[in-house]
Amino acid sequence: MANVVAIVGRPNVGKSTLFNRLVEKRKAIMDDESGVTRDRHYGYAEWIGKFFTVIDTGGYVTGSEDKFEAQIRTQVELALDEATVILFMVDSHAGLTDLDKDFAKVIRTSKKPVFLVANKADTTERIHMAMEFYELGMGEVFPISSATGTGTGELLDQVVKHLEDGDKITDEGIPKIAILGRPNVGKSSFLNALLGKERTIVTDEAGTTRDSINTHYKLYGKDFILTDTAGIRKKSRVKEDIEFYSVLRSIQALQDSDVCIFLIDAERGLEAQDMSIIGLAHKYNKGMMIMINKWDLIEKETNTAEKIKKELVAKLGTLNYLPIIFTSVLKKQRIFQAIEKANEIYENRIRKIPTSKLNEVLLPEIENYPPPAIKGKYIKIKYITQLPIHTPTFAFFCNLPQYIKAPYERFLENKIRKHFDFEGVPIRLFFRKK
Ligand code: GDP
Ligand code: GDP
Repeated sequence: MANVVAIVGRPNVGKSTLFNRLVEKRKAIMDDESGVTRDRHYGYAEWIGKFFTVIDTGGYVTGSEDKFEAQIRTQVELALDEATVILFMVDSHAGLTDLDKDFAKVIRTSKKPVFLVANKADTTERIHMAMEFYELGMGEVFPISSATGTGTGELLDQVVKHLEDGDKITDEGIPKIAILGRPNVGKSSFLNALLGKERTIVTDEAGTTRDSINTHYKLYGKDFILTDTAGIRKKSRVKEDIEFYSVLRSIQALQDSDVCIFLIDAERGLEAQDMSIIGLAHKYNKGMMIMINKWDLIEKETNTAEKIKKELVAKLGTLNYLPIIFTSVLKKQRIFQAIEKANEIYENRIRKIPTSKLNEVLLPEIENYPPPAIKGKYIKIKYITQLPIHTPTFAFFCNLPQYIKAPYERFLENKIRKHFDFEGVPIRLFFRKK
């Protein structure tokens, strides 16, 4: 089970404002550095040690007003199926509207925990006004102000009770690999090719839901669990739904995995949605690789692969540590290498470097290129150790940890990557006073 919190509600109640408040603190690295995915509708959030993904479902409602009824149904139903917790947002300034009641009708059918959130309760008077929403008969009303943050702490305290603790290990020792990518990139074909048989992905019955399928798989005597998010389009009726649904499924699968294989259509290249999902996987410290599929469709000249790789690495910005593999699932080209690579990444992710080795290698690098002095103060890094947790995390002990800036952090990360193989895995660095 994954931790996904979906915000639903009619337009203008403040969904995206709350969304921004919840995820802004931990802005995606990519947002800052390569200028992509400005209008993402899902992001990573944390509250008292619980990690979760927030989805602003409003971001997916794109059609015109007259189609709105139908959109409430499809989008909200999808959110209800897929999310762990639902925040049903209303506007305490505007009061209860017919549209709110329509939403409530659909939402009431959910068996998931639903929190009725009365937004724009900026003042005491508005908080009183929010009590009107008890009329919906949906239990406790949480008056909040997304604009100022009032009440959001109380709300989150309750919400996270329904979420899982982060950083748990699943099926210890067996790599859990999620196959991710936009509809039609070749995910099911990839699985079928690996498994050597046609598998029925989803029943054709209208409205059938199925969870991401976990398949145990053996290759050269090694066990894997492959999670596939394919077959989504069967359930969905319109294009926006497919997008929305596939995003939700991807988020769940990635939260649950050790390594994510991102399939990309060679003809379409890396798209904004791919970048957001990759960014999310980075936040969750997942192992990652890119598989450029349908390589058979690309007309090749000398160095085509190198050129494409270069462009991709540029687009990835600081996430340029992801290995890239060119495949044709159709022609069965390099599909086993892809799985082997995923296994290497898994190994990289759990690798622990002995403290003595780390210091022996990194201290000379630091001596050669020490952190720049700030306000006349010299920063001295004394020693480094890898923390005994699941994903590669390093603590640097120094006299003035607050003076280490992002560029120097990046320098250190690059040195760690240069000397120790952490291909495909995010690395976290902490600076502590000593
Ligand atoms: P969405 O359509 O539900 O995503 O709503 P938005 O987040 O775009 O917000 C709609 C409007 O309500 C914007 O003008 C926001 O600035 C405003 N708004 C959002 N939250 C609050 C709040 O807590 N208090 C007040 N007074 N205005 C808010
Ligand atoms: P999914 O939606 O990601 O599961 O994609 P599918 O596995 O259903 O594949 C979508 C379409 O792309 C199907 O028609 C596949 O036959 C085709 N396809 C998958 N992999 C390749 C490939 O490597 N080359 C070519 N030319 N077509 C492929």
